Amino acid sequence: MTKINMDSIPLDLLKYEIKPYLFCFCSKCDNEVVADDTTTKIYMKKYKSIFDDDFYVYYDDVEYFKILCNNCYVYMLNQNMFPIKKDT
Ligand SMILES: [Zn+2]
Repeated sequence: MTKINMDSIPLDLLKYEIKPYLFCFCSKCDNEVVADDTTTKIYMKKYKSIFDDDFYVYYDDVEYFKILCNNCYVYMLNQNMFPIKKDT
């Protein structure tokens, strides 16, 4: 693989064309994160044990995140929130 000298790439090209492919902003914490470390288009729902079998029935309290970073994802799992479904 040929190594590219990063200094030879114009700054505008790096900033506006290349960087958006590598980094994005988390929909929850708004931090800029590496795009590989995210979950995208995910619906999360807080677990409530009213009846054991109604967890997947109601969608009115689901939260949708276009981009969710790993930190937020793990935080929400620890808050008893679970991924319900994923848009494609
Ligand atoms: Zn986040």
